[in-house]
Amino acid sequence: MREFPFQELAPQDKKFRDLYPKYRVWQERSELLREADVAKLANDLLSDSAGKAVPQRVRQQVLGQSLEGRTIRMLSMGNGERRIFMWTQMHGDESTHTSVVLAVLNTLVELGNQAFDGANFLGDCSLHVIPMLNPDGAERQTRENAQGIDVNRDAVELNTREGRILHDTVLKLKPHFGFNLHNQRADKTVTGTGKIAVLSVLAPPLDYDDSDSPSVIRARQLAIEMFAVGERLLPGHSTRYEAGYMPTAFGEWVQAQGASTMLLEAGGWPEGQENGRDELHYVTLMNALRSIHQQAFAEIDSTRYAKLPLNKIVPSKK
Ligand SMILES: [Zn+2]
Repeated sequence: MREFPFQELAPQDKKFRDLYPKYRVWQERSELLREADVAKLANDLLSDSAGKAVPQRVRQQVLGQSLEGRTIRMLSMGNGERRIFMWTQMHGDESTHTSVVLAVLNTLVELGNQAFDGANFLGDCSLHVIPMLNPDGAERQTRENAQGIDVNRDAVELNTREGRILHDTVLKLKPHFGFNLHNQRADKTVTGTGKIAVLSVLAPPLDYDDSDSPSVIRARQLAIEMFAVGERLLPGHSTRYEAGYMPTAFGEWVQAQGASTMLLEAGGWPEGQENGRDELHYVTLMNALRSIHQQAFAEIDSTRYAKLPLNKIVPSKK
């Protein structure tokens, strides 16, 4: 078993932190991202214009259109059997990870397996990303889609196009790992310390009893892995996300399909700290990919998951 907590910066943390400013593709605040921007940035990742070395190609698949006709796409890289699936911005006003996953993909386009020190990530794994599942909500900066429905309560009834697209993609892809990427309120804090919760993780439960399965145990191990990255980069600002079993939510549904699924929430950012929230989440996701490839997470004691500090909501100021 690996030691816990992991307090020293790992060599790959420093490496990934250095990569982020080089390979980020969206330079503005992520709240300004719209589907038209994602379309352009995706095309940039697909193109291999003269002089640009593209060691690995991105494949784009149009999954469908939102109610207002905006494209919902999936970007894929790698050819390996171990399938990793990420979706962002199912809540239209939660954009941090859309910007972050585009940076992750760009890193892999530019560096290929060198991003992971030459380990054959792209041969052993495949990465499939839906950046911005809810483009109509992104346009309005609302949680809900154009019907006014919270897509993350639609995993059973499937009343939304976005929900049906996510549902059908999971059934077709049959991912081994799922990353359900969100933003939480920026004023959420760590229970007991009052520090801003910059990163929160959850392995969505399988049922009301939070039963064990090999798949959900892997999800808890990876949740601990991501929590530990957050703690190494900014000690005291990571939490376990507090939430009970919610059968209509997609994290639970994807978990129940047998993909080891992690909810990852980006929160606020404390004043006066260097670097930034997007960089911290980029380093976290790069570490998670590395851990999946190397199966490093399997050495983590999954019972630590229940002991991670929870987040706490501070009453909003009026
Ligand atoms: Zn959300």
